Amino acid sequence: MKTLLESMAHGAVRCMYCDDSRGTDIDHFQPLAMAPLRVFVWDNHLLACSFCNSNAKRDEFPVDPEGACLLVDPTTDDPADHLFLMLRSGEYGYHTAKGEHTIRVFGLNRPDLVMGRKDAFFLACSALRDWHRLRQEGDPEADRVAQALRDSPFVDVVHSITRLAPGLAATVVGERTIPAVGQWRSVYGG
Ligand SMILES: [Zn+2]
Repeated sequence: MKTLLESMAHGAVRCMYCDDSRGTDIDHFQPLAMAPLRVFVWDNHLLACSFCNSNAKRDEFPVDPEGACLLVDPTTDDPADHLFLMLRSGEYGYHTAKGEHTIRVFGLNRPDLVMGRKDAFFLACSALRDWHRLRQEGDPEADRVAQALRDSPFVDVVHSITRLAPGLAATVVGERTIPAVGQWRSVYGG
């Protein structure tokens, strides 16, 4: 099971919650203490780093009064429906109660992740401009830069850049990165 989860994990086998550290543990999304029979449900098994699994989430599984899960489920939910990333501060904000609980339970705004995302933002903007220039020059190395960007930790930063609303993009990434963002969207989607 672990080998299969590793093959599905992003980039260099990153944790499916923080996307920063290596996924080392199998986390039961709904804790077995709460639902023992879910040990037989494939979708209840996710690859997590030991910090997210053992220090952050542990056995937390908040539910609403009707019993519906109040955590963003990576196997079914689009995190963008519940969470938004403030690229310059590196912090997550939320649209919904599910987003709010997810930030708290997984510690998504813990200092090491916030610092990593801030650095990843500036590196991603630089790499996007580099990719754009290489592509314009017809240099095949452009594809290698794109692959490295898509496989990089904190790929949520890259997704957030390429999904910025047109009216906001220039303010956040700066005018000189806008042409690269536009071309990335046309090649790889937002
Ligand atoms: Zn993690």
